[in-house]
Amino acid sequence: MCGAVVGLALGVAMAGCASAPTDAAPTAPAPPVPPAVTTVTSNSVPSADWQMIGTSVQGRPIRMRSLGHGPRHVLFIGGIHGDESEGAYTTEQLPDAFSQNDLGDAVTLTILEDANPDGRAAGTRGNANGVDVNRNFPASNFDAGNPVNGSTPLSQPEAVAVVAAIDRTTPNLIIVAHAWAGKQFINFDGPAREIAERFSATSGLKVEASNEFAPTPGSLGSYAGRGRGIPLLTIEVLKGSDPKQVWDKIRPALIEAMRG
Ligand SMILES: [Zn+2]
Repeated sequence: MCGAVVGLALGVAMAGCASAPTDAAPTAPAPPVPPAVTTVTSNSVPSADWQMIGTSVQGRPIRMRSLGHGPRHVLFIGGIHGDESEGAYTTEQLPDAFSQNDLGDAVTLTILEDANPDGRAAGTRGNANGVDVNRNFPASNFDAGNPVNGSTPLSQPEAVAVVAAIDRTTPNLIIVAHAWAGKQFINFDGPAREIAERFSATSGLKVEASNEFAPTPGSLGSYAGRGRGIPLLTIEVLKGSDPKQVWDKIRPALIEAMRG
């Protein structure tokens, strides 16, 4: 949690700093400030900086940042169902683990912190409109018959932001953090069975293919995995489990999956 708070604080501080020198310039010599933004950021997480990729229904920022510069692009989404916060600690720990495992030359990792910040704030599965963001993607199986899915694909700004993140990062692998009541497993969509099986062998989470256990119309897996052919792993940890234990359990498998 500290990491996110510090990151947010730095983001606010940077935004404030950015305008101050410009205001002061006409009347007094400005101090040499341009490196400040980079310097402040690199003190906490090297080569990382938050970018806004969209805003939620209630105006909360949807942020992402990238680490490393390798040819393999991995997009990690820290959450999309607001009442599944078990993966938040993992999201916070990823940058340090990425650095400690020297992945930067092989991998470019983009972390989308939270695709549903309104739901996270309210503790609800859906967003502030009561829509399940993970049913609002333009997949061929989108179901307009249920209001929870949204009236049309991409009617919700959170889903738009996720698609923008995919388009911008062109990932070779997408990993999404979820939680499931009563069991934990690694779920996959698209050409990801092999990487899911390796994730399973390392983490102990059983493999489940999406279309084998539950209908998921308009889901991110349906859209990006099965529709666009991007390997997609959905990590379903046990709902209510200790976030630090979740991290300890899945960390080695995550590192392997990122490395490819
Ligand atoms: Zn979920």
